[in-house]
Amino acid sequence: METSSLANALPGNMSRKWRAGVLGATGLVGQRLIQLLADHPWFELTEVAASELSAGRSYAEAARWQLDSAIPEVARDLLVKSLDPSLDCDFVFSALDSSIAGSAEEDFARAGYPVVSNSRNHRMDPDVPLLIPEVNAAHLDAIPLQQKLRGYDSGFIVTNPNCSTAGLVLVLKPLADAFGLEKVFVVTLQAVSGAGYPGVASMDIHDNVVPFISGEEEKMESEPQKLLGRWDGRRFVDAGLGISAHCNRVPVLEGHLECISVSLKKIASTEEVREALRSFEVSAELASLPSAVRNPIVVLEEENRPQPRRDVNLGNGMAAVVGRVRECPLLDIKLTLLSHNLVRGAAGAAMLNAELLAARGFFKNRSLAEGELVAESVEQ
Ligand code: NAP
Repeated sequence: METSSLANALPGNMSRKWRAGVLGATGLVGQRLIQLLADHPWFELTEVAASELSAGRSYAEAARWQLDSAIPEVARDLLVKSLDPSLDCDFVFSALDSSIAGSAEEDFARAGYPVVSNSRNHRMDPDVPLLIPEVNAAHLDAIPLQQKLRGYDSGFIVTNPNCSTAGLVLVLKPLADAFGLEKVFVVTLQAVSGAGYPGVASMDIHDNVVPFISGEEEKMESEPQKLLGRWDGRRFVDAGLGISAHCNRVPVLEGHLECISVSLKKIASTEEVREALRSFEVSAELASLPSAVRNPIVVLEEENRPQPRRDVNLGNGMAAVVGRVRECPLLDIKLTLLSHNLVRGAAGAAMLNAELLAARGFFKNRSLAEGELVAESVEQ
């Protein structure tokens, strides 16, 4: 799959890499962020933070590392800090447990840090962008109002959606653009890694399916309304879709599968739908971001695909992988979707959000004395 070509050098408007901190660095999403930051062309990891249980230890000691590749050298010896908002970095990713993320993210934003969050706490706040760059980059226009309303200076909060919503909305976007959307019915089969580490007890999930994930259906029914809606200059206006979601936990490690039926405003054949998905291409601005995929939707033709084990890493885990596009006797069209819950649904999504923020000039150099923060990027 083609990834962006301008991705590997610092853009002309950056004189050095932006320094990133990771809150919740020891968890599953945090580890993915550390891995993605290790060789990032625009960002360098300078700080890691987690709970008091981890603080004071080296990252290698504190993280129960779950990835196949080794802990990146840049992270191994970093001292894990607590959540005091005095980290030596220009912005922070947040992969904090939701029990603490709400207040911690506000503390960091108030202290001047841009916060790029994975957590659910602020996603539906009326002044916080819930962002998928390929879908609603214009929602970043809400940031100045957020800063004004909350009294933040250079800090702010931007969030990415729930791991199941991320893939779903990426697929709904070209359908909404081409045909208009009325109703969406979705049934998920979600991987255990979606619950963090150690997550679901092995005795609950081995040889089993659990037809309940707390809060998940509510998130899948509300977040797409904001993502596919618009920012009118003062508030987010919902898309007004009818959405019903059933969420299930299945014994798969990585990759959420979703069986989706949609009704369209305009009649379309299955071939027209397939073509709308296949030809969905990001703008030149997005294509220049290091984590972007030029065509983020992959349509497979085999009748038994996508499958988590075989297809989850397509597009470096950033693709929405679609198969089985066919007529639906109840609504209009049905299809199967697979997306990587820890990459497209979490760490990769946050990385892409941070790249867009950097490219649009939302980050400031925080290494200078307070009060002398300098914007190195050009506003676009
Ligand atoms: P996880 O593996 O349980 O990791 C949670 C992280 O939060 C750890 O670094 C932990 O630090 C830290 N933490 C917990 N309590 C804390 C406290 N009181 N103070 C400071 N740090 C604390 O969870 P995860 O799967 O990585 O998820 C992280 C966030 O992303 C959650 O909000 C989750 O809902 C969201 N998310 C997850 C996924 C997914 O697929 N897993 C997808 C999208 C969004 P210690 O190690 O020190 O305890």
